[in-house]
Formats: sequence, structure tokens, C-alpha cells
Amino acid sequence: MNDKIYLSSPHMGGTEQGYVTEALSSNWISSSDLNLNKFEYGLETYLGAGNYITALSSGTAAIHLSLIMLGVGQDDEVLCQSMTFSASANPIVYQGATPVFIDSEPDTWNLCPVHLESAIKDRISKGKKPKAIVAVHLYGMPCKVDEITAISKKYDIPLIEDSAEALGSSYKGKKCGTFGHFSILSFNGNKIITTSGGGALVCRDQKNKEHALFLATQARDEAPHYQHSHIGYNYRMSNVCAGIGRGQMEVLDKHVALRQEMHAFYKEIFLNISEVSVFEAPNNDYISNHWLSCIRFNIVNNKFNPDGLREALLAENIESRPLWKPMHLQPIFKNSPYYGNTTCETLFNTGLCLPSGSNLTETDRQRIATTITKYFNS
Ligand SMILES: *Cc1c(COP(=O)(O)O)cnc(C)c1O
Repeated sequence: MNDKIYLSSPHMGGTEQGYVTEALSSNWISSSDLNLNKFEYGLETYLGAGNYITALSSGTAAIHLSLIMLGVGQDDEVLCQSMTFSASANPIVYQGATPVFIDSEPDTWNLCPVHLESAIKDRISKGKKPKAIVAVHLYGMPCKVDEITAISKKYDIPLIEDSAEALGSSYKGKKCGTFGHFSILSFNGNKIITTSGGGALVCRDQKNKEHALFLATQARDEAPHYQHSHIGYNYRMSNVCAGIGRGQMEVLDKHVALRQEMHAFYKEIFLNISEVSVFEAPNNDYISNHWLSCIRFNIVNNKFNPDGLREALLAENIESRPLWKPMHLQPIFKNSPYYGNTTCETLFNTGLCLPSGSNLTETDRQRIATTITKYFNS
């Protein structure tokens, strides 16, 4: 059997180990936050002025902290893109609040501004104004940022930008991770860069960053003993993990370019396969890092369908995966309100994510191309 080709696996640049070793040999003491400081500074420089990073244990923790900092609490409602990874929605429930799910639009597969606005109007008319909006850039494709930001401003509802999949993407020349009241990033093993596990909260000022750091490190008041006036969290990234991140920052641009090349590779393969469309940006305002390359079946029948292609790839030890199953169709969220039609449901039923790692070799690509071509010529 050939080696397994993964959807998206960690890709080290080479310098990570040195930074980790440095952290280990300093025995976690003396200037022990060096990697953390360098990693955060690297991200701030990358995102540009006005962005303040707190490195955390996960992207999920970053969403949780942003909800806490926006004052989301018991019985509040938070609007959330339905088609996403469950980590976008779970922290809403950690706060005792209710997620209100919104359909996607077909251009970017992300939060539909039209359904978002009708949901806001309806929730307000029912007596409760939502406390926040969670918008996602799925697979690295920026959402309709201008339209969503305008709604956030019009109704004065803060926006949380879930940029877990979109580091290296941009919208109208501005980087993803810089929009809304808070943004979050993820450095999980399958993301565009990794710290083995980790994430970051992006604040828009130093004061919020300091508050995030305070909450993420058990909310200790200033005193020689342990004194607490707030509930704290153990959400800080370790300096060892940050060493991996520090090295990964050095190859971020290169790895984004390689993911984008994978997308070009799929466009080439599917050029003459009319059953399938490769997911791409609606226009030049949207630059995707193409974290994952995705396709959609234009027609699904007994001969050609996403599951059939997935199994054909699996038989060659090549991983592929259905698109994110919408949250409003998940058993755990079946009682949550939903606004929209069937756009995200149809995407889920007709789409597939293909191997997209920046570390795939020419041999890997050949195997993928051969398997796909064979499936459609059968
Ligand atoms: C990965 C991911 C997260 C969560 O990040 P973790 O670091 O795994 O906690 C949140 N939202 C989306 C859309 C993601 O893909």
C-alpha cells in the first residue's frame, strides 16, 4: 500500500526545533517568554498596525475569551454561521448563551448577510437583541466582510471574526484576522501553520490584549498571595509551543503560496470534468489562502457523487472529507434557532475537501490526479 496522503498535515520549516530546544534548555525560567514574545510580535507585524495578539492554548479558547470580553452570558443569544467547525459555536454554550444559526451564501460559502439581517430583526422583534456575531472564513475564503461589518455597525452588535482557517487570506487588500471587534486564529496541527496545538486572540488595542492575558492566566489580582476578583482561565500558550510557532512564521508566506498552488493543481485537473466545479473566489476582492481546496458536484447521480469519489480516493490511501456539516443539522444543536434556506445543506451534500497540504510532493500529486481522472473516466 502507498503511504497515506492526508487532507492537511503539519509541515515544519526547519527552525522550529531550535527554538523549542532553546525553550527547554532555559528550564522554563529566566527570560522564559522569549518564544511567546517573538511569536506574538511576528503575528502582529504580519497582520499590521492596530492588531494586538495574545497567544493561547487553542482557537476555541480564543473564541471563548472573546465572548467573555464582549459580556456574553447566561440566556444571551449569539448569531453564528451554521456551516462551520463546531468550535465556532461551542464556546457560546460554555457561556450559557444560545447560538442562533445562519445560512451561508453561495459565493463564499460563508455567513449570508441577507439572512443575518432578517435574523437580527426577528430576534429583536421577539424581545432579545443578539449579543455578538460569529463570522467564519471557511477553507480560507474570506466572507462578505463589508456587508457583514455594515450590519454589525447598523445594529451595534459586535463582530467576532473566526479566522482559524484564514491566516494568509485577505479581503480588499486587508488581511483576514484584522476585521471586527475581535479575531481569532488557530494553530492546530491541520491548520495553515501549527504550534502542535494553539490559537490566538487578536484585539484592536493594548488594553484589551492585557485583559485577555489576565483572563487567560487565571485572573490573578496584583498581590503577593493568590487573590482573585474574577473567574480566570488556564488558556495561555506555553513557551515551548510558541517556539514551534516562531519557526512556522518564517515559512508562512511560502506555505500559503504552496496551498494556493494546490488549488491551481485542482483547477487544472477538473478543467475538463464538467460534473465538478472547483471552489474559487467570486472576484479579486477575495484572496484565499486555500487552506483546503474544495470541489462541488454540479450534478449528483449514482455514477458520480462526493461519497463515490471519497471512497475511490480512500481505496488509494488518499484522504478526502465532506464539507463541514452545518451546525443546525447537528444532533446537539437541533433545538437552536436557524435562519436561512438550504444553501449550506446543499453545499454539505454536494461538496468534498481534497488533500491540500503545503507538504504534498509531485508523486503525491500524480497519485491524486490519476485517481480522480480514473474515477471520472470509469
Ligand atoms: C480549527 C477551527 C477552530 C478551533 O481552533 P482550535 O485551535 O482547534 O481550537 C475554530 N473555528 C474554525 C472554523 C476552525 O476551523
